[in-house]
Amino acid sequence: MATTLFRNPSATVFTGTQFPVSISKYVSKESSPCLQCNHNLRNRASKQNKGLLQVKATVADGTQSVSKTTEKNEFDGNQVEKKKKKLRILVAGGGIGGLVFALAAKRKGFDVVVFEKDLSAIRGEGQYRGPIQIQSNALAALEAIDMEVAEKVMEAGCITGDRINGLVDGVSGTWYIKFDTFTPAAERGLPVTRVISRMTLQEILARAVGEDVIFNESNVVDFEDDGKKVTVVLENGNRYEGDLLVGADGIWSKVRTNLFGPTDAVYSGYTCYTGIADFVPADIESVGYRVFLGHKQYFVSSDVGAGKMQWYAFHKEPPGGVDTNGKRERLLEIFDGWCDNVIDLLVATDEDAILRRDIYDRTPSLTWGRGRVTLLGDSIHAMQPNMGQGGCMAIEDSYQLALELDKAWNESVKSGTAVDVVSSLRSYESARKLRVAIIHGMARMAAIMASTYKAYLGVGLGPLSFLTKFRIPHPGRVGGRFFIDLAMPVMLSWVLGGNSSKLEGRSLNCRLSDKASDQLRTWFEDNDALEGTIIGDWYLLPVGNEAVTSQPICLSRDENRTFMIGSEKNDKFPETSIVIPSKQASKMHAQISYKDGAFFIVDLQSEHGTFIDHGGRRSRVPPNVLTRLRPSDVIEFGSNHKVAVRVKVMRSHPKMVEKEAGGILQAV
Ligand SMILES: Cc1cc2nc3c(=O)[nH]c(=O)nc-3n(C[C@H](O)[C@H](O)[C@H](O)COP(=O)(O)OP(=O)(O)OC[C@H]3O[C@@H](n4cnc5c(N)ncnc54)[C@H](O)[C@@H]3O)c2cc1C
Repeated sequence: MATTLFRNPSATVFTGTQFPVSISKYVSKESSPCLQCNHNLRNRASKQNKGLLQVKATVADGTQSVSKTTEKNEFDGNQVEKKKKKLRILVAGGGIGGLVFALAAKRKGFDVVVFEKDLSAIRGEGQYRGPIQIQSNALAALEAIDMEVAEKVMEAGCITGDRINGLVDGVSGTWYIKFDTFTPAAERGLPVTRVISRMTLQEILARAVGEDVIFNESNVVDFEDDGKKVTVVLENGNRYEGDLLVGADGIWSKVRTNLFGPTDAVYSGYTCYTGIADFVPADIESVGYRVFLGHKQYFVSSDVGAGKMQWYAFHKEPPGGVDTNGKRERLLEIFDGWCDNVIDLLVATDEDAILRRDIYDRTPSLTWGRGRVTLLGDSIHAMQPNMGQGGCMAIEDSYQLALELDKAWNESVKSGTAVDVVSSLRSYESARKLRVAIIHGMARMAAIMASTYKAYLGVGLGPLSFLTKFRIPHPGRVGGRFFIDLAMPVMLSWVLGGNSSKLEGRSLNCRLSDKASDQLRTWFEDNDALEGTIIGDWYLLPVGNEAVTSQPICLSRDENRTFMIGSEKNDKFPETSIVIPSKQASKMHAQISYKDGAFFIVDLQSEHGTFIDHGGRRSRVPPNVLTRLRPSDVIEFGSNHKVAVRVKVMRSHPKMVEKEAGGILQAV
């Protein structure tokens, strides 16, 4: 169709001037972080007839009725295009919600058109906005809408739901709660959660929806609902008539404002920095995403595939802040003293790959629409990103709305009466309101929980903050953990699987590729087993001014190769003798060896002792006893805190980056 249009504009149904706009113009040139398949998709696209990638944009005067063609695109595959139903659906906004709904409506056989003000903007807030987590509930809804498209999304995604995900202490990096996102999906035969580049997702959806459906450069500024039809008014004065209007135009929705009047979005209290780094953590095989908890700040990292990690750094402050000295520098200050997993990612991220935005949401409303107009996605329920469910809810909305419209259509065919559009919109809204409001509330609660976390008594207590040095576990942390342990499985089961029993059109089976490691259960219960999945070399890195070594020392996994640490070189260990030029060190101070898959240190009855600081918890290594070393431990030789090394596990040889003179050196 678009090819025909391109060649012969007069053959179209539009009265105005038309010109084709190529989707490929807006498709990311950069390699998608998520997987080979994106690359394949792009390659395949580039070989296609360019005409198939075109989107019509119209510049015309007067009111136009929108008409569709029956032309198929690559996603129609074997699907028999359903007989067109004479209901014209107008959609404002071609983001995730608008496009998925357009797809769902199209698959049900409705005439649909999407008005998008700027197709390049559907790629998100700039090229670094990065990946989005599409969880089991939304993937299942997508399967019910269009199995082929769901397959494409899943192929392009990086599976995180089959690994350990959860909350850790931001400073020590130790696990607080682990989430099982696999079981709720597997139990119900749902796909496992993926992370996918937003650009790839939009690209797949836009192709599937088709170039004849998306109108680019079409800024919806107003609408009129006369009770029998809706007329959309674009900024350029064009008017389009349809039977109903779906406002999927995001958090700053014009359609919502025109429906209900202007209301302020709610500031979450947090500004959020995001970035993508070329970095592969040593525990990538077993850990998908982690939320690092802190006081008035938190940090989230997620594998996004292809050797990249996406991160979000949240900091409580008023909106509108500006970074004068660079974003990365500010983040390194804010997260100073946090565990390696956080600092490594910040150090490995280019300054210009960091974006900052203040986080807003919209308080859920009981009224989602009026007359022949309804809202979908962020336009009605923008939520904080902490549950990774904003886009997922827009996908669920889309499924439900198309279903209700289809029901209304079938009713009208049966009864021989007009399609009851208004009731079907209200049914959609009723079906969605409660679930969305609960998840919205959870997203707000998650922010409170993540940032009011206090590892120790004294944190955030101003004059009483000296108490932190006693490392007394904060009662809130202990009680909170008890509560979360009980509530989390129920909550995850409901969020990830809650809608699945109602979905029509998908078979209940888990795809073969969605099998987790048979060790998954063990990793949940046994931190040592989880640590055992780490792939990488163990290094001792210099710390502070009186560094034991100026270069990283790579420890050996050879059980017969012991590292001897002392104030003098030990001739019995010519290659593995580490000399500490300090009065704090004894001649034979300590030794490090490898045994049964773990590294151990033994203090050799040194005069001033050996100490291990694990995430701020410092303890003396008992003499002549094997004490297990953990990643990020700081080993101090002597009691004056000055002679120390840090244990770090890395997949590649460390490059040293000095944060500031005398400060901790970071290897990335
Ligand atoms: C930091 C962060 C992380 C997130 N992570 C996740 C995650 O992991 N998983 C998840 O599910 N969700 C996540 N979300 C939420 C998710 O991004 C949104 O919920 C989702 O994008 C909403 O989709 P939407 O289509 O409703 O709105 P949008 O994506 O905002 O799309 C709206 C579209 O409408 C267009 N538009 C706007 N006004 C007009 C107009 N007047 N006329 C025509 N077109 C218009 C815009 O150009 C845009 O294309 C995250 C959000 C943030 C901020």
